Amino acid sequence: MHVVVIGAGMSGILAGHRLAQAGVSYEIIEKHDDVAGTWLVNTYPGCRVDNPNHNYSYSFAQRHDWPFHFSTQDVLRDYFRECAREFGVDQHVRFGSEVVSATWDEPAAQWVLTIRRSDGSEATERADAVISAVGQLSRPKLPDIEGRESFAGEWFHSAQWNPQVDLAGKKVVVIGTGASALQFLPIIAPECGTLAIFQRTAPWLAPTPDYHEPVPAGLSWLYRNLPGYSEFNRFSIFWRMGDGALEGVRVEDGFPHRPDAVGVMNDFVRELLTQYLRAEFADRPDLLEHVIPNYPVGAKRGIRDNGAWAATLKRDNVRLVTDGIERIEPGGVRTATGELVEAEVLIYGSGFEASKFLEPITITGRAGLDLHEQWEGDARAYLGVAMPGFPNFFCLYGPNTNIVLNGSIIYFSECGTRLILGLLGRLARTGARSIEIRRDVHDAFNEASDAANLKWAWGWSEVSSWYKNDRGRSATNWAFTLLEYWQRTLAPVPEEWVLGD
Ligand code: NAP
Repeated sequence: MHVVVIGAGMSGILAGHRLAQAGVSYEIIEKHDDVAGTWLVNTYPGCRVDNPNHNYSYSFAQRHDWPFHFSTQDVLRDYFRECAREFGVDQHVRFGSEVVSATWDEPAAQWVLTIRRSDGSEATERADAVISAVGQLSRPKLPDIEGRESFAGEWFHSAQWNPQVDLAGKKVVVIGTGASALQFLPIIAPECGTLAIFQRTAPWLAPTPDYHEPVPAGLSWLYRNLPGYSEFNRFSIFWRMGDGALEGVRVEDGFPHRPDAVGVMNDFVRELLTQYLRAEFADRPDLLEHVIPNYPVGAKRGIRDNGAWAATLKRDNVRLVTDGIERIEPGGVRTATGELVEAEVLIYGSGFEASKFLEPITITGRAGLDLHEQWEGDARAYLGVAMPGFPNFFCLYGPNTNIVLNGSIIYFSECGTRLILGLLGRLARTGARSIEIRRDVHDAFNEASDAANLKWAWGWSEVSSWYKNDRGRSATNWAFTLLEYWQRTLAPVPEEWVLGD
């Protein structure tokens, strides 16, 4: 059995490691020249993980010497590099190569992949199974604003940060106030001549005093030396920030319909976080009225804050612009009220094409079935892993496996990998050549998932977020508990899958 994994980021390294442990031959196709995926690519100033490292790390590669509670991009990139090296995964990666298509060859029961190298040449590779590990947040999204192409100054997206552009003394405009923007804005603000921040929707802030702090020496000593201390810390984070936090975002039956709360607990959390904002902006009522969100906590991702956001917005050279954007012009951004906010540099903190799963890869399954045509822009899978009509093709961090609260995506990828290894194990043990999810099982799961997503703040609220696709359906988020994903991915349920000769 030979498996091709697409992508050598967090999920791809994990898949490679588990395949090797199972004695399966594999190769990883990676478009960049190094491993680490999102932690390689996102180099914007201030980039760091917003989930404590003890949780955001592989269960089988725990470190007890993280330098920060929430480490910086370079630390995470190096961690994934070290894991790839330690587990020998880097030896299996074909770098500078991108999978452009995958086609199921029915008679051979194999996938035929077309791989484009960085020099433009193409190669073909066969695999008994394919694991997609391309991530959800790897394709930057530029906002659909009239005149974007006409801008005469320098511009770039946060995920394609251009260090050659000197911001010193310049008129800088940033569009977006999401997780990426709130990390780089406090760092660049002191450099810029002026900094205008276009906010469409205010983010909820999660007060985190130690967000930028190093792990104190005494605590680090405990992690390293006191048996069980580090593990219990990990479990405690996992519970508090995972399933333990879900009650705060549950839509409560009978709760009065309001735009900013979905239940008594959710309203209580809203009040707590509003108090934080009131305290942070107590001396700036002009800003306060614009920074309190008008949607429920949990409808969008909360953003960690140690006071940096208020300090940035209060700077003399910084202006928060909440008027809508009319268009982009050569000299800057025209607001809906007719003002031209001048810009020499325009930075898009505008997020990612999260719902466009597996684009731009062409994937052709049984009987010429095109995956993107089957999805029609509304990606679905069974447990995020498998799609009917596409035997032996599996996804990690696929549709409906993202989380809004601070669980860890690594957990989802570890669970998904275990299920995929179970499926490959069934092929090996039964001698079957293909395994595919039953369409009715897939459809029933998706129906239940859609219904369950509507019972959480992110599915209920109509506020804009990358959790919903163009149809307004949450195609990204897991609708149940973390525990349930663990249970459902322990091993394949044999009756749910169709084996083929
Ligand atoms: P994002 O959360 O999707 O934020 C995009 C921002 O751009 C939002 O403020 C959005 O406004 C704004 N925007 C988009 N189109 C616009 C338009 N046409 N006009 C005006 N504003 C527009 O993207 P992100 O900040 O890159 O974060 C994405 C996700 O990546 C996060 O939720 C998180 O899961 C992950 N992330 C994690 C970390 C970390 O772990 N440290 C750091 C960064 C990102 P609206 O809110 O009104 O839509």
